[in-house]
Amino acid sequence: MSSIHELSFLKEKIQELKNDGVYRKLPVLEGANESEVTLNGKRVINLSSNNYLGFASHPRLKKAAIEAVEKYGVGAGAVRTIIGNMDIHEDMEKLLAEFKREEAVMVFQSGFNCNAGTIQAVTEKGDLIISDELNHASIIDGARLSRADKTVFKHADMNHLEEVLKEKRDNYRNVLIITDGVFSMDGDIAPLPDIVKLAEKYGAMTYVDDAHGSGVLGESGRGTVDHFGLHGRVDFTIGTLSKAIGVIGGYVAGSETMRDWLSHRGRPLLFSTSLPPAAVGSIMEAVRILMSTTEYTDKLWDNAKYFKEKISKLGFDIGKSETPITPVIIGEEAKTMEFSKKLFDKGVFVSGIVFPTVPKGTGRVRCMVTAGHTKEQLDRAVEVFKKVGEDMRIL
Ligand SMILES: *Cc1c(COP(=O)(O)O)cnc(C)c1O
Repeated sequence: MSSIHELSFLKEKIQELKNDGVYRKLPVLEGANESEVTLNGKRVINLSSNNYLGFASHPRLKKAAIEAVEKYGVGAGAVRTIIGNMDIHEDMEKLLAEFKREEAVMVFQSGFNCNAGTIQAVTEKGDLIISDELNHASIIDGARLSRADKTVFKHADMNHLEEVLKEKRDNYRNVLIITDGVFSMDGDIAPLPDIVKLAEKYGAMTYVDDAHGSGVLGESGRGTVDHFGLHGRVDFTIGTLSKAIGVIGGYVAGSETMRDWLSHRGRPLLFSTSLPPAAVGSIMEAVRILMSTTEYTDKLWDNAKYFKEKISKLGFDIGKSETPITPVIIGEEAKTMEFSKKLFDKGVFVSGIVFPTVPKGTGRVRCMVTAGHTKEQLDRAVEVFKKVGEDMRIL
């Protein structure tokens, strides 16, 4: 018998992945995440990053990172509750709170971390979490860490949400309704005004994970809550600093009470070292840019509109996206992956997304248009879509 240390139980599972045709290697990017990149040794137009505003390699952010390193070093050296809470961490949170038009902000090391730490800290046994069925994996994992009961409502279905509230509200002390602000696979926006109304009617709290809305929706990227003018009516608004902001980190925006409590019970904050100074410096510069101009969000929406119009005119099914996320729905799983591969061979990188990430038969390539793309790059990408679509008889 082979030794357990050969991990043959994992080797068998890996072989299963290979048999199912879903085994893959991680793609390797050479250089910065920009609109045109060298990926796995090939020059391609990048339609697959969350770098919505092109901030990941913005000269002002790079300069701010270097300056923060010069003054504060490369690491925070401890968790925030001991000696890892630098003045720049506090300044960053004040700036973010001002930007988000909320009372206070608590920053975590990532958006994932933020959900993993916050949901369990604000719910307990005797509470109920009601979650949209299409919510992000980090919300699902975060809810698993809570001792509260959990249930889901059908995607964006307000009748179903109300049914759940009607049936269950009175059996629990606190109820927390959780939704993504923008859903990452389809690009649709949560019906937040209706969710908030139902929450107010039934005395429930609301929690919006706005990872794909931050830096995208609302005035100069203030997010989905700002887009709908719901300030003060959402209890917990989560944003990521890793997507449009271009760096790393996640945060909760809300009340001073929320921040006070999370500083005592937000486990990633208590047991994991805080963000490095370079990240903090560049995050603050990104927020300053957004507070001084709408140039970047304007360009993002202009590019998104331009690309979506051209792709749908060709005859592709681009679903029901309301944001720069542009799914091009191909359908069958193997065909979707072949489409993605052919695009890559012709110089366009768009990753294929298939079951189980999306429902069977709705495989798609998910195009992420950014402010960093030029019209010329988008035109070239559209040409490649046309060619491959015709070759594969999709068009
Ligand atoms: C990307 C994403 C996260 C994770 O954010 P990171 O900062 O990359 O950890 C959390 N929630 C949603 C909805 C996301 O799309």
